[in-house]
Amino acid sequence: MSLLVQKFGGTSVGSIERIEVIADKLAGFRDKGHELVIVVSAMSGETNRLIGLARELQEQPSAREMDVLVSTGEQVTTALLCMALHKRGYAAKSYNGAQVRILTDSAHSKARIKEIDDKAIHADLKAGNIVVVAGFQGVDENGNITTLGRGGSDTTAVALAAALKADECQIYTDVDGVYTTDPRVVDGAKRLDRITFEEMLEMASLGSKVLQIRAVEFAGKYKVPLRVLSSFTEGPGTLITLEENAKMEAPVVSGIAFNRDEAKLTVIGIPDTPGVAAHILGPISEANIEVDVIVQNVADDKTTDLTFTVHRDDMLKAEKILLSLAKELGVREVRTNDKIAKVSVVGVGMRSHAGIAAKMFSALADLSINIQLITTSEIKISVVVEEKFLELAVRGLHSAFGLDEAK
Ligand code: ADP
Ligand code: ASP
Ligand code: MG
Repeated sequence: MSLLVQKFGGTSVGSIERIEVIADKLAGFRDKGHELVIVVSAMSGETNRLIGLARELQEQPSAREMDVLVSTGEQVTTALLCMALHKRGYAAKSYNGAQVRILTDSAHSKARIKEIDDKAIHADLKAGNIVVVAGFQGVDENGNITTLGRGGSDTTAVALAAALKADECQIYTDVDGVYTTDPRVVDGAKRLDRITFEEMLEMASLGSKVLQIRAVEFAGKYKVPLRVLSSFTEGPGTLITLEENAKMEAPVVSGIAFNRDEAKLTVIGIPDTPGVAAHILGPISEANIEVDVIVQNVADDKTTDLTFTVHRDDMLKAEKILLSLAKELGVREVRTNDKIAKVSVVGVGMRSHAGIAAKMFSALADLSINIQLITTSEIKISVVVEEKFLELAVRGLHSAFGLDEAK
């Protein structure tokens, strides 16, 4: 008998029929004697619908009220799932985040979990209940409802698994595991039996939305055994593991990640004096804009150009800041471009292999794809390219690194 925390995403609970299928699945686990804590997302599309309603009223609604609104989707699915379980003769009890007391900080829409009170859940499990918890939400010290960022139900599940010391945290979704790249973009993508936390963290932070980044961070920190599986089909899924697979020769590149969420800003003709980068990027970070890739070039005429990327939603705000600095700094021009995409190759095997960057760049050159920016770390190489070449680049790199499924 195991204690399992299982999370079902939006498509997995997207209709009454789907909820009935999940209830049957849970009944099967319960019959085998497992103790179950279930985390559910809102029905697919619901969170976007709620955000849309708010936007009809106000462009920038109050962050507190936004969290009150968007957290409702998850409350609906907890109750429906419990009803489906009752109908089958199983004891089940729903909780929203505040009722469990998933205590978070007060950063609305991106709150971090500080503490989970597991007393009530333990008592309910002992009494034979399946406990169903609303994902994506918590409550701050002052009783305000908070949410954990898009995709945050994954983090609720991992945090509960850590607090309850569950035997495994299982993330059920609409694909049957973590793939070498998004299987909706590359037909030949392969399911991985296992992937290391480190690689999963890079994949998630570079755009693979199969797991929320914070969920992976949390699982790594608290050593929560984590698995991604399909709620539609049977199978072992993908285990996210702490060990690098010593027995098998680790592939040099494990996966290709990508995202279209960034925009590029270039400041041209800045006098090349010490402190100039800090002068430009300081106000950007003070405005709470996160900067990702940064590149600086020096021209012959003693001026420098600085290029950096930010989230697309922040591009106009960042441009405004740069324009306000331009005069004072004697800058020639500020350019923006939101038609870019970032493509990354990820693999722990890169540590012990040289030449991966060269191979990546020549694969892109063979496809006549121009590289605009490059950044690297020990286990990843990212490039920024024109957005229209994104899918071509991902497919090309997937083949070049031998990741395609054998036909
Ligand atoms: P859920 O609603 O269950 O949380 P998500 O849409 O958040 O599901 O995550 C699952 C989706 O992640 C898949 O449908 C797939 O398109 C996408 N995805 C992106 N990269 C990968 C990858 N490397 N492996 C598997 N799925 C991926
Ligand atoms: N419903 C939330 C979202 O769509 C949280 C989640 O599904 O994990 O982002
Ligand atoms: Mg998700």
